[in-house]
Amino acid sequence: MEIYKDPAFDMACEQFRLVADHLDINQNLRQRLLMPKRAVTVTLPIHMDDGRTEVFQGYRVQHHLALGPTKGGTRFHPNVSLGEVAALAMWMSWKCALAGLPYGGAKGGITLDPAALSMRELESVSRRYMQEMIPFVGSRTDIMGPDMGTGEQIMAWFMDTYSVHMGYAVPEIVTGKPVSIGGTIGRREATGRGVAYLIERAFDTLKMRSDQSTAVIQGFGNVGSVAADWLAHHDGVRIIAIGDAFVNIHNAAGIDIPGALDHVRRRGSLAGFPGGEFISATDLLTLKCDVLLPAALERVITADIAPLLQCRILAEGANGPTTPAADQILFQRWEEIFVIPDIICNAGGVIVSYFEWVQDLQNFFWSESEVTDRLFRILEGAFTNMLKRARSQKIPHRIAAMSIGVERVVAAKSSRGLFP
Ligand code: NAD
Repeated sequence: MEIYKDPAFDMACEQFRLVADHLDINQNLRQRLLMPKRAVTVTLPIHMDDGRTEVFQGYRVQHHLALGPTKGGTRFHPNVSLGEVAALAMWMSWKCALAGLPYGGAKGGITLDPAALSMRELESVSRRYMQEMIPFVGSRTDIMGPDMGTGEQIMAWFMDTYSVHMGYAVPEIVTGKPVSIGGTIGRREATGRGVAYLIERAFDTLKMRSDQSTAVIQGFGNVGSVAADWLAHHDGVRIIAIGDAFVNIHNAAGIDIPGALDHVRRRGSLAGFPGGEFISATDLLTLKCDVLLPAALERVITADIAPLLQCRILAEGANGPTTPAADQILFQRWEEIFVIPDIICNAGGVIVSYFEWVQDLQNFFWSESEVTDRLFRILEGAFTNMLKRARSQKIPHRIAAMSIGVERVVAAKSSRGLFP
């Protein structure tokens, strides 16, 4: 459909087509499963600090409502487009269904560079975005959360704007907010911790030792930095390269992860971090390592890069980092590269977001171990189901994981009588 025209949306459609072919889904049902239920576009005029008025574009896409409310993050990034948001919403649908959560997928975003805005400008645009979305979201309709370029503070502004409108506190309208206003313990770390847990499970499956393994990480934000910290300190993995939007750093002896975390906390990025030699993004992705963890943007592993990968495990922390053309190549290399597809690899975030929503609805809060134990239990079930299906049907992990998700959505829609 023309309004969603975007490389990420084309990629999500192509992945869906492969799964629909595998599951032999009737042609009549495919469009119904594929196309988003709703898409909202908003214009956000903001008074900038220098007196100008700047106009930003914001989006929210709700993919399907068959299983419950929709759920998904909000991205602040210069490349955000309606099509990209729609692709991310679709991936959220399969991810939630694979994890057994009572949600459809959603996603939102604003086309802007958060690093170029002051705190006051960011607050204005965040509040204006939520204000415009009030008629379309709700704790039983669509629940927002963080994604690239957003975090706890922005979720707090979203919640406050919605609550002021309603006249009472509505913490369950967003997840990923500070614990002081109804956030859950463990949400900030959930995605990276889930990534690390699944990498540990891949080590077990492949009979590899974590303390003799190396990792390369692209993206040193919420997902990449938490996973790096956990892998380095909990599992003894040597992190030999890290990179972000500004710089890529290689050190065969191992990057000083606490030093890098401290640098990013103080300076906002890895730029100027002195822990190794500078390399290109392509060199980073194609370094010889045991684990490659893309945790930044989509479509970084292309058909050009896939033949050059030298990792044993590809753990997709980012959403959509591997193109379908690259997938074909990875499938031919399945004995060399063990793929943990994005819809399971980064599912820790939405799983703990679900826990946050449940706690807010009940006003009953859990301990950190309750959150983490339940998170690992759900990930374990999804990982086991994916491996079982991939092995029994001799299909790639991505097709196996997506098939389980898509089947659950089809089952929900048909039980509700939406399909003949
Ligand atoms: P973040 O904003 O905290 O960090 C993003 C990181 O990627 C930063 O280090 C940034 O510098 C880097 N980056 C941006 N552009 C880059 C580029 N062109 N090349 C290399 N690095 C670049 O975002 P995040 O929350 O860590 O999200 C990262 C990825 O994980 C996204 O794909 C997001 O959709 C996905 N994800 C996040 C969550 C979550 O809970 N935060 C959950 C599921 C999936």
